[in-house]
Amino acid sequence: MIYDKSDEIEMDDGAITRTVDAHFQEEDRQENMLRPQYLEDFQGQSSIKDNLSVFIKAARSRGDALDHTFIVGPPGLGKTTLASIIANEMHSEIRMTSAPALDKPKDLAGILTNVSEGSIFFIDEIHRLKPALEEMLYIAMEDFEIDWVIGQGPAARTMRIPLPHFTLIGATTKAGSVSSPLASRFGINIHIDFYAPEELSRIISRSARILETKITDDAVLALARCSRGTPRIANRLLRRLRDFAYVLGDGTITSGIVREGLDRLGIDEHGLERMDRNILRTIIEYYGGGPVGADTLSISVGEAVESLEDFYEPYLIQQGYLKRTPRGRCVTDKAYELLKIKGKGHADQGLLF
Ligand code: ADP
Repeated sequence: MIYDKSDEIEMDDGAITRTVDAHFQEEDRQENMLRPQYLEDFQGQSSIKDNLSVFIKAARSRGDALDHTFIVGPPGLGKTTLASIIANEMHSEIRMTSAPALDKPKDLAGILTNVSEGSIFFIDEIHRLKPALEEMLYIAMEDFEIDWVIGQGPAARTMRIPLPHFTLIGATTKAGSVSSPLASRFGINIHIDFYAPEELSRIISRSARILETKITDDAVLALARCSRGTPRIANRLLRRLRDFAYVLGDGTITSGIVREGLDRLGIDEHGLERMDRNILRTIIEYYGGGPVGADTLSISVGEAVESLEDFYEPYLIQQGYLKRTPRGRCVTDKAYELLKIKGKGHADQGLLF
């Protein structure tokens, strides 16, 4: 989850922790309220939905577990949501965990030996799974068994433990960091891309209905355009704009409230935040437009390298402000144009971008 600093409340250390915890719990509760339960509520991504519904129907009519499923995409695009939708559509139980929470082989073995026939086992951030656990998972996925070593030294022996047929759903923001033996064991591959403004508009209208908040059609579209193609951000901004609408207006979110609210939150008409502009400006002013490596850039802008790579860069790249090259990140002419800085290659011609 990306921590929105604009929501921070300053108090002494312990109070901040408690307040932020309570705040996150409330945000999580509201996010869960908005989480679609079935495929028909999952907006946009029509080809993903169409294919999934075929695979689910086929597996159900055969009475089989669904094939292992790999879901790739930037944060907030619906990977966890899709996993729980698959469980609902399959009428199956779901166990959810995240790779960093699985430390030792016994953590994984403990879950695998307790899953029920046909159930779903969801591992988030699967690219962070430790190698020893990954090897255990290969056999579990392929043969529905695990090897378990009993005893130590010369007396040690390996026992094969049979497992129920389950479906592993692995989600990642970094497909390139998942080893190919693991990636090749998934039968269904889903790549979720950023949502188009029309798709986000449908998500915003649905969320506004659930939150019983009035929002005008032009406000829906204006908000959709500034939500980085990401449902989680659209929903979060909708909740903030609802607050502005209550305090600054008559409770209805209008395009005026969207403009004023986003301006106060430091989000521009392209959906870029202060940190996005800071990243682009730093590459231009300190590194001559690039290339610059992720680690160096993260220190320069004071943002964790994971946030930089998982959250900020994918959208900047998709919008054409940034390029990843083998030697590092480079800004494009569009970034010079956005920041109204004279472009390097065009300085002689005196052109302003
Ligand atoms: P991820 O696991 O990819 O980080 P989530 O599945 O947690 O993302 O989605 C974040 C939020 O966005 C969810 O709470 C859900 O309300 C909303 N959401 C995501 N995708 C959709 C969608 N296609 N339609 C409606 N809401 C969505």
